[in-house]
Amino acid sequence: TVIVVGMGTCGIAAGAENTITALKNEIERKNIKDIELAKTGCMGYCVGEPLVEIRQGDVRILYEDITAEKVEELVEQHIVSGNIISRWRVSFDSDFFEPQERIVLKNCGVIDPESIRAAISHGSYKGLAKTLKKMKPKGIIDEIEDAKLRGRGGGGFSTGLKWKFARDNESEDKYLVCNADEGDPGAFMDRSLLEGDPHRLIEGMTIAGYAIGANHGYVYCRAEYPLAIERLKKAISQAEELGLLGKDIMGSGFNFKLEIRLGAGAFVCGEETALLASLEGQRGEPRPRPPFPPEEGFKDDPTVINNVETLANVPAIIANGHEWFRDIGTENSPGTKVFALAGKVKNNGLVEIPMGTSLGEIVFDIGDGLIDGGNFKAAQTGGPSGGCIPVEHLNVPIDYDSLQELGTIMGSGGLIVMDEQDCMVDLAKYFIDFCKDESCGKCTPCRIGTTRMLEALNRITEGEADHEDYEMLLDMGEKVQDSSFCGLGQTAPNPVVSTARYFEDEYLDHIENDY
Ligand code: SF4
Repeated sequence: TVIVVGMGTCGIAAGAENTITALKNEIERKNIKDIELAKTGCMGYCVGEPLVEIRQGDVRILYEDITAEKVEELVEQHIVSGNIISRWRVSFDSDFFEPQERIVLKNCGVIDPESIRAAISHGSYKGLAKTLKKMKPKGIIDEIEDAKLRGRGGGGFSTGLKWKFARDNESEDKYLVCNADEGDPGAFMDRSLLEGDPHRLIEGMTIAGYAIGANHGYVYCRAEYPLAIERLKKAISQAEELGLLGKDIMGSGFNFKLEIRLGAGAFVCGEETALLASLEGQRGEPRPRPPFPPEEGFKDDPTVINNVETLANVPAIIANGHEWFRDIGTENSPGTKVFALAGKVKNNGLVEIPMGTSLGEIVFDIGDGLIDGGNFKAAQTGGPSGGCIPVEHLNVPIDYDSLQELGTIMGSGGLIVMDEQDCMVDLAKYFIDFCKDESCGKCTPCRIGTTRMLEALNRITEGEADHEDYEMLLDMGEKVQDSSFCGLGQTAPNPVVSTARYFEDEYLDHIENDY
């Protein structure tokens, strides 16, 4: 018997440390033998934390909300008497788990993230072994291109093509950088993955490094993720000890050194050229593109920057082949997407769904609808760079292209659900305020434009605006989009544009009724 406790940040915040201590004490007090107590990362069902799973052979029973006070009854009933406690049980066949397809999160919430042996026994480093023993760099890039893997950080650019640009560059030094500077409000996909299965990222990065010809990789992670950093550090040293990272990996002659660099909490450092500047120890400000990083990046050498989820897809594609991957998802967006499901939805958590799943399925099946009997109004995807999807588009399949048609973006995976109590003008104001604060100040349209937009939104929500303010807001939004220097400014007005497109009546209501 193994008792597994979810010890991601979500579990710890809900009291999982007390739960695991109580379990240890209870097992000792009852003098129960042949029982192992283990920890794992986020199981995805964050709303049910602290989660405890009891494994006996192939039978896995998951319990939710197991606070320290419930431990005595859990041990007595399930372990001692063999009775499943149905009122605390969450079924793996439930609507939350059943529609999901886990590639990237396959081992999250399953393995002990601090044990490389656990990761290997669940298939980790298989893709790397295949890469180094049987494949040439060109073959790997072809496989990733044929799989049509697109950047999961939001851009949706072809990963294989990006790798090819760097591979074709003849420079001696090349770099691979993982962007783990997850800054969107409401997004926690990268953190959960790093906390739950850091070996998947290490493996993906090593394969990518081999493919593009880089011997050096960096994970640029936000400093606000201490647990993710701690587990990643541990995983790196374990992989080095076993010869799966570092010098002469698996006796192949390929060297790959992986280091972690911490970001200091600037949202703009998620923009790739600002990230590179920060990595070089300079002020995190965007640079002009071209040249693009695969031509001239870190220290002016070719550099590929991919986000955590993109790289975490790589081992499975290499291990299973591009056809397997193309069978999942849609024609132009194969594979899955991880979403952080948050806001007024019952089942808050981390979900991985095949591309093409509709928003309605995510909110009403996986998410089990809205809390407090609320009615769905809209969902925000893509954080401050994205937009909202109103109720009339609930059936639209989620993929890069259809979301763009709706005026939003896939983004990195934040998905915030709102009900009819939520004011869409307040939502737009929240995101503009965020972008104004995070603007690096380098260019005027973004620095001043977002400030003027926020002022207009303040007047609108305080009942002091007239129609001219609204027109100025939209006009300023267009100017900021068109003339800002980097992606932050170019996309900052998106939440305003999108809410004005679908919920103009709310803006006009504020203005005409002075509230
Ligand atoms: Fe800085 Fe904003 Fe200009 Fe980007 S758009 S360079 S964040 S001021």
